[in-house]
Amino acid sequence: MTGSLEQVAQAIRAYNKFLITWHIDPDPDSVGSGLALQLALQAAGKEAVCVSPDPLGDWSRFLPGIESCKVFGGELGSALDVDAVIVEDCEPARCGGLVPYLQSGVPVINIDHHGTNRGFGEAFYIKPEAAATGEIIYELIAEYLQIPLSQPMAANLYAALAGDTGTFRYSNTNSRVLYIASELVRQGADPAETALHLYENRAYEEVDLIRAALDTLEISPRGDMSWITIHRAMLGENHWSGQQSEDVIRYPRMIRTVKLAIMFRELEPSRTKVSFRSRDNIDASRIAGLFGGGGHTYAAGCTLDMPLQEAKALVLETAARILASNSAEQSGG
Ligand code: 5GP
Ligand code: MN
Repeated sequence: MTGSLEQVAQAIRAYNKFLITWHIDPDPDSVGSGLALQLALQAAGKEAVCVSPDPLGDWSRFLPGIESCKVFGGELGSALDVDAVIVEDCEPARCGGLVPYLQSGVPVINIDHHGTNRGFGEAFYIKPEAAATGEIIYELIAEYLQIPLSQPMAANLYAALAGDTGTFRYSNTNSRVLYIASELVRQGADPAETALHLYENRAYEEVDLIRAALDTLEISPRGDMSWITIHRAMLGENHWSGQQSEDVIRYPRMIRTVKLAIMFRELEPSRTKVSFRSRDNIDASRIAGLFGGGGHTYAAGCTLDMPLQEAKALVLETAARILASNSAEQSGG
């Protein structure tokens, strides 16, 4: 834990007009947390607007309040004229086109659960033990700011928790998460509807992309590492939504022997995004950190300024070395 939630609550009490933002490739945790916080601040008589640094996927359309969310396209005029910016679910450097604005002197409040975030701004709270940023936002709203939780806030926070726990399946699912989820359902969040929107609401093209992606599935000779490759051409004119990473990377991680699942995604001819999912004490955030990225122990990512093939060769070689030294350590060698 870094910083304090009380300090964050104090900063929020002190200001009146907020802009809330999150990371590029927005996911249910970042967007659900942002909308819930926006609704809570408005319920407390403050002004708040959510601004996403990247377009939102179709999956987000069911979230209450999503229609008021703006997407940053280089210009926002008076929307940027606020008392403070709340950056949640990431460090300010991951806010894409909004980074220069965040460095312009506007007060920043940072709330996150990524262990690789050291905390930024005049008030921050980084809690890596939190399964989702939504868990921290729940504590902030219900316990610190003591704003009554409405159904729209609960629906957003439930989506946030569901998103980052793989709907309560991943190793970050614990009794605290399930307790909060239960409270959110009591306030009107709908588990079945949330799952339907998150997992069974894809366009045909998105499922067709999974088919093409599966064709690229590979595995290491030892069977401990498996990866999938998304070429730019596979996307056509479509925009990649953060939710699709989960759709695709689940396949290499499904394999019994795999300790490290990787997805390579070509962003531009010489920019490659890499996603990691791990288990059995393999620290994915450490591997991502070697390439300037970060994240959590079992889910992390980075972006390399390299063509796809070059990035693949470098990452696979590095990861194989780490897996080999880890298994040598575990066998006492
Ligand atoms: P994904 O692979 O789905 O993009 O991300 C997995 C996890 O790692 C998420 O929690 C995400 O926020 C984090 N992550 C992904 N890419 C980066 C990165 O470049 N830097 C940092 N610090 N975290 C990342
Ligand atoms: Mn998150």
